Amino acid sequence: MLMTTCTPFRSTLLLALAVGCAATIGAVQQGHAAHTRTPARSSAFARMEASRGGAMPRAARKVIIAGAPASGKGTQCELIKSQLGLVHLSTGDMLRAAVQAGTKVGLAAKEYMDGGKLVPDEVIIDLVRERLAQPDCEANGWLLDGFPRTAVQAAALRAAQIEPDLVLYLNVPDSMLIERVVGRRLDPETGRIYHLTFDPPPSDVVPRMTHRSDDTAEKAQVRLSQFHEHLGAILAAYQSVTVEIDGTRGKQDVFASISRVLEGSAIAA
Ligand code: ADP
Repeated sequence: MLMTTCTPFRSTLLLALAVGCAATIGAVQQGHAAHTRTPARSSAFARMEASRGGAMPRAARKVIIAGAPASGKGTQCELIKSQLGLVHLSTGDMLRAAVQAGTKVGLAAKEYMDGGKLVPDEVIIDLVRERLAQPDCEANGWLLDGFPRTAVQAAALRAAQIEPDLVLYLNVPDSMLIERVVGRRLDPETGRIYHLTFDPPPSDVVPRMTHRSDDTAEKAQVRLSQFHEHLGAILAAYQSVTVEIDGTRGKQDVFASISRVLEGSAIAA
């Protein structure tokens, strides 16, 4: 699968070719070489096209987005959702709702979430499997955010014959992530995420902003180390359909890369 990045080196190269960063689609890899490949088109898209008899657009309908805490998954999911109408399923949001509602799942998850740790696989797997089987996911496609996060979770999806068309891996170095996490704030009314420094909220939103209890430097470190512990397994499980996106750029630039990948142009021959 092709990689999508906008590193300075790559940009320079492409500028020299008069193509520009907008076409920065190539087999550039920055650390996960074992999980990449460079066919003209992914087998997943070829399968999807074949199953549709070639009559429908080649936009991905079953998408997983992976990335560290504060890598921008939530922001990009909002943009992807409005472009493709996929059902956005964030396991973090699902679990937070369960905690708030005091359900059995919520009670089982709370202590892990409070500590920044992953909740046990058995707590989350059924929740996701059941949600993906709902008619809206079947009809509109889905965008799975924060799942699978472990080899066991990926294996559970595979066992249930749930396979993504595409896995987007939003890559951001750890050095940027802690700062992003600590300054992150949520507007509970709109669901919009702001950052105190990089994306400050308007003054009327400020009084109602909330700060996630696990968005502290200390808990972010725990979440980051858990993320790194499991990342290799996730990339290995989906290596043939994974596209790496450089998540260090502004959200519109990141989305422009994602958008091209989603619509298939980035992986066309
Ligand atoms: P993050 O930005 O840390 O990825 P999320 O909102 O996605 O935040 O998740 C918040 C918390 O919910 C995680 O720290 C973890 O405790 C729990 N969680 C979410 N998804 C999973 C999952 N797939 N497996 C285990 N725990 C999960």
